[in-house]
Amino acid sequence: MSTTSDPIPHYNLYINGQWRAPKAERYQPTYDPSTGAMLAHVAQADVEDTQLAIQAARTAFDAGDWSGMLPAERARRLHAIVDAIEARQTEIADLEMRNGGCTWRKANLMDIPVGLIHFRHFAKLADFEAQEPVPQITFPALSYNLVRREPIGVCGQIIPWNFPFLMAIWKIAPALAAGNTIILKPASYTPLSALKLIEIIHETGLLPPGVLNLITGSGQVVGPELCNNPLVDKIAFTGSTAVGREIMQQAASTIKKVTLELGGKSPNIILDDADLDIAVDGSLWATFMHNGQACESGTRLFVPASIYDEFMNRLVTRASHLKIGLSEDGATDLGPVISASQLKTIEEYIQLGIQEGATPVLLGQRPTDPELAHGHFITPTIFTNVDNKMRIAQEEIFGPVLCVIKYTSVAEAIRQANDTIYGLAAGVWSTDIERAMTVANQLRAGTVWINDFHLISAEAPFGGYKQSGSGRELGTWGLKEYTEIKHIHVDLARTRAAKFWFDIVTPQE
Ligand code: NAP
Ligand code: MG
Repeated sequence: MSTTSDPIPHYNLYINGQWRAPKAERYQPTYDPSTGAMLAHVAQADVEDTQLAIQAARTAFDAGDWSGMLPAERARRLHAIVDAIEARQTEIADLEMRNGGCTWRKANLMDIPVGLIHFRHFAKLADFEAQEPVPQITFPALSYNLVRREPIGVCGQIIPWNFPFLMAIWKIAPALAAGNTIILKPASYTPLSALKLIEIIHETGLLPPGVLNLITGSGQVVGPELCNNPLVDKIAFTGSTAVGREIMQQAASTIKKVTLELGGKSPNIILDDADLDIAVDGSLWATFMHNGQACESGTRLFVPASIYDEFMNRLVTRASHLKIGLSEDGATDLGPVISASQLKTIEEYIQLGIQEGATPVLLGQRPTDPELAHGHFITPTIFTNVDNKMRIAQEEIFGPVLCVIKYTSVAEAIRQANDTIYGLAAGVWSTDIERAMTVANQLRAGTVWINDFHLISAEAPFGGYKQSGSGRELGTWGLKEYTEIKHIHVDLARTRAAKFWFDIVTPQE
């Protein structure tokens, strides 16, 4: 797919089973946020390129080679595709680390292996029971009724930069398993692992042309075409709540199915009987994993007054030992944030927190290590004396900034935890599971972890309450978001369909 002898590779668009240059021949560089090194030139699709990809996906869907394939055969092919990806997982992990700025450990031990597990889960589900029983129909009694799940059609899928490989899997795996066709749009910062994924799938030759298309380029150009084009049946989006809102509005023009996985400001509640050995490190993991650049990050930490001093001493000590460094260093806990503009946003939020009256017991700074001078690095920030009404407690910062809120009654902690426009996830830490469950039941969030955080299982649904989104990913719930439901009614008594009408208007002889 590299088109020139330039040592920096050029990546093209993948449309109808072929790599092709964008019509306007425009390419943009993509970088390593750790070192600032340019990694590749990536095609910039315009509206016309996007239309070509949509048409390819439409034609492939309507031809029925994939959508009408026996589910068992689809499952067999998807398993073979996962095998092919697995065989090249270190190559993908390396791209994920270099282009996305995630640490070596996150790429190699988490994102790629977890992505493979999630893809395999959907490969298994591809052989799903497409027919579901219908309870006894009351009228007419002599009828046979069944419900079939069918693919929705052409799916436009737009993904963010924070988990580029995993988000690509979460989108394409359930859509393919259910028999849909796809136009995938990776984030402009991080297209490389998705491009590699498509290259590997292409080489297997297991998908008919047009079933899976990949369009790189600006979301502001590609996005509106995907959302408004009547040939597209569904939009699946992960990213900011602001863009999610725009997508929902645009998709309304043709009443597309929409699933959205948006922002969060997840509460993480420590109960006074928590095991501090796991709760302290768990709270750091909840917030600082990937520098807080996860939609579910536990960035509002509720700590009871009765154990506050001990908890905070341990938390700040442990946080100050987190190792900041290059992504490729296996010892690095915190790598770079994605971009210079994201770094600036984080610094502005830190200043805002100080202006709002919060106390930075750990103040994020740009590291002085010359090795890190060309990357977008910032050390962790922990704010105490945070009021849940402050903007730093309400707005998604998407950086290594933790807001600590002291509480005296659990009921008050729950009330504040729910006082947010978001509802993606939450955490509760306690040695008393019954107590923790009582709290979990009262939290308005799509996932609640008890004594854990960030663990996302292939079999369980993931998605948000309130403005964190619409619909669910993963599990059988995630698969069903890519299906339409058809009810078929068979009249076994063969009564005349128009009986009521004709009997009333023109009585039969
Ligand atoms: P974003 O603007 O929502 O971008 C996410 C994806 O949407 C990217 O592929 C982007 O393409 C595309 N996009 C941008 N504008 C679009 C439009 N008008 N129509 C359709 N698609 C569009 O997110 P961001 O700018 O990367 O990050 C901003 C904030 O979003 C972050 O600070 C964070 O709060 C939040 N965020 C949340 C998640 C999450 O997992 N929930 C992930 C990432 C970011 P381009 O890359 O080409 O712009
Ligand atoms: Mg954006």
